[in-house]
Amino acid sequence: MAREKGMRILVVEDDDGDAAIFLRYMEKMRKPVSATRAATMGEAKSLLSSKEFDLVFLDLMLPEGNGLDLLAHLSENGSDVPVVIVTGSGDETKAVEAMKAGAYDYLVKENLSTAVLEQTIRYARRRHNLEQDRQRMVEKLARLSVTDELTGVANRRAFMEKLQEELQRSERTKQPFAVLMVDMDRFKEVNDRYGHQAGDEALKRCAAALRRNVRRTDFVARYGGEEFCIILPETETVGARRVAANLRESVKQLPPPMPTVSVGVASWEPDITLDELMHRADEAMYGAKRAGRDCVAVYGSPVAGEGAPADN
Ligand code: GH3
Ligand code: MG
Ligand code: MG
Ligand code: MG
Repeated sequence: MAREKGMRILVVEDDDGDAAIFLRYMEKMRKPVSATRAATMGEAKSLLSSKEFDLVFLDLMLPEGNGLDLLAHLSENGSDVPVVIVTGSGDETKAVEAMKAGAYDYLVKENLSTAVLEQTIRYARRRHNLEQDRQRMVEKLARLSVTDELTGVANRRAFMEKLQEELQRSERTKQPFAVLMVDMDRFKEVNDRYGHQAGDEALKRCAAALRRNVRRTDFVARYGGEEFCIILPETETVGARRVAANLRESVKQLPPPMPTVSVGVASWEPDITLDELMHRADEAMYGAKRAGRDCVAVYGSPVAGEGAPADN
């Protein structure tokens, strides 16, 4: 919950008398709260969409229908505001339903008191904080599981998943796409000469340069130690070669220590498997290494330096 003091509380209660009792109990609480009352479901929905609340007390018995509708409405709208159900005694089965639908807690009207409300608010706040911590942790883990820690680009697992998706999409749409394999040249020498940390820095800067110089829709990943893979959706071989040449040049422009890169290009074709496509990108990259490094090679085309013109 957002704040320690001045919790913003919405009381959804159609009965004027019950609402007045509720508000009176709240006025006596040690920590002041700012309470708002909604007399109808419609009023509650409009208040919840226009204002922020830290907690909702919800009377399940509203003339326009079941309070459960409000819980459903909140979850549909992605709201995580804690809801505490208030029922008359004898309505416990409804309360159970409400708890299953995501309510935090329930109170029986006959047992209400200032102390009970204070305790309920404390409990709801604690639980909401835990819930938020958990949510943040889940998001962080989800992010970490697809990110390369050193460079911040996607990791190999995320790359493989993306490539699989891209393959399936192209099988359906017959749209071309290409894969680039970017391997840093004689990277070991950077480590040997300047130290591992300088090597790490070079990797980071190279990754950033790759990302800067492709489209937002392209997908850059660290495939292994000093190898990056890039997916270029909706790109023909000619275009992919141009992107590869541009990337090679961009990395070359970076301040030292920075090795050059050798880039292999492989293009999707109908019925190709993921393994075969990766194998081709790798083959092409090794072709570029054999041709003297710091160059681009396209799978199936001769490489400059191996007896073919450079712009092939
Ligand atoms: P080539 O031009 O043939 O690719 O030569 P290379 O030295 O780049 O290739 P090799 O595969 O022999 O060596 C790769 C080096 O990359 C060795 C390894 O220590 C280094 N490396 C891999 N991952 C990291 C990393 O995370 N940080 C640092 N600093 N170095 C790394
Ligand atoms: Mg190598
Ligand atoms: Mg290398
Ligand atoms: Mg390598």
